[in-house]
Amino acid sequence: MHGYRADRAFDGERPLPGGALVLVDGATIRGVQPAAAPAPEGCTVTDLPGATLLPGLVDTHVHLCADGGPHALDQLPDLAAERLEGIVTRALAGQLRAGVTTVRDLGDRDWVVADRPRRAAGAPTVVASGPPLTAPRGHCWAMGGEVSGVPGLRRAVRERAERGADVVKVMVSGGLLTPGTDVTACQFSPEEVRAVVDEAHRAGLPVTAHAHALPAVEAALAAGADGIEHCSCLTGAGARVPGDLPARLAAAGTAVCPTLGRLPGIEPPAHVLARMAASGTSYEDHLVTAAALHRGGVALLAGTDAGVGPTKPHGGVALAVGELVATCGVPAAEALAGATGRAADAVGLGSRTGRLRAGRDADLLAVDGDPLTDPACLQRPRLVVLRGREVLRG
Ligand SMILES: [Zn+2]
Repeated sequence: MHGYRADRAFDGERPLPGGALVLVDGATIRGVQPAAAPAPEGCTVTDLPGATLLPGLVDTHVHLCADGGPHALDQLPDLAAERLEGIVTRALAGQLRAGVTTVRDLGDRDWVVADRPRRAAGAPTVVASGPPLTAPRGHCWAMGGEVSGVPGLRRAVRERAERGADVVKVMVSGGLLTPGTDVTACQFSPEEVRAVVDEAHRAGLPVTAHAHALPAVEAALAAGADGIEHCSCLTGAGARVPGDLPARLAAAGTAVCPTLGRLPGIEPPAHVLARMAASGTSYEDHLVTAAALHRGGVALLAGTDAGVGPTKPHGGVALAVGELVATCGVPAAEALAGATGRAADAVGLGSRTGRLRAGRDADLLAVDGDPLTDPACLQRPRLVVLRGREVLRG
């Protein structure tokens, strides 16, 4: 048995007064005691003075097939299998270096990610959707999930269940990164979205819906989707959050991920900026929307859309936590929970990781400083433990 001791700790939901001594046996947390507690006999201890211990981070929205370049998604149809494998491997390494021990992949090119082991040694645990369901030539069609009509959508959902997907991702509106799609309009009818959710729930799978357009957000909520990605609430005349929408989302328990987090000092590629301008939206507007959702009572997740462009590195979930706090007014503990405990719940692994609790995977992160007063310190991992193995020691 080995222990990790720090004077400050966050357990995935709240700070632990008195810090923590986290006891690890093999790949599993055996117990969590106050830092001042004596270690059990024979237990070696790593002391982390000045650090905060917390669970390994969870990014609820990544694209492991996307390399973070200016054409990360556009190039997908042309990539040979070998190149794709290399991109996925580097993406996972980038996540782990940043203290991210679990990722949910919500946009696979064909089944490249989903067909890999989900708990490979030395790589973050992966939750996989396979290719997102999208309309013919719809958002992210190049990932291989084009489909239309209720019978076709039901078949496609069943195919995902049979191939071992953990979650169904459906593109209910267009997206900024796919030319020719409309971010302010739905790609599927409300009836089609209902069929996707119904068929997935029959198969025991949750559904998360990509929704920039306000009608797409409403269709996903009405259909009972478990999660909504982006939730930009775009109309033809800018973003608009209806007054009662946050309360309806909160009452339904819908997991909302505004996909914040971007590298400072870098502009998105010109072709992306042009599409944002054409659809009357901006990143600043999106932050305002996310803040309104938070004020209305929605508990936001810190997933990032990692990999889709130069502002979206793999391993950027700490940046999203920082934006939730600094620009959306989310209390730091709530933002941290959106990258740990609540994020693990949202990806279906709440009983396995995301909290400093006996019986959970020993996925740990230690950072220098106190993320509750200085979220930026999350960007400086000092120690990362993945299922009991130290993978980074700063
Ligand atoms: Zn995405």
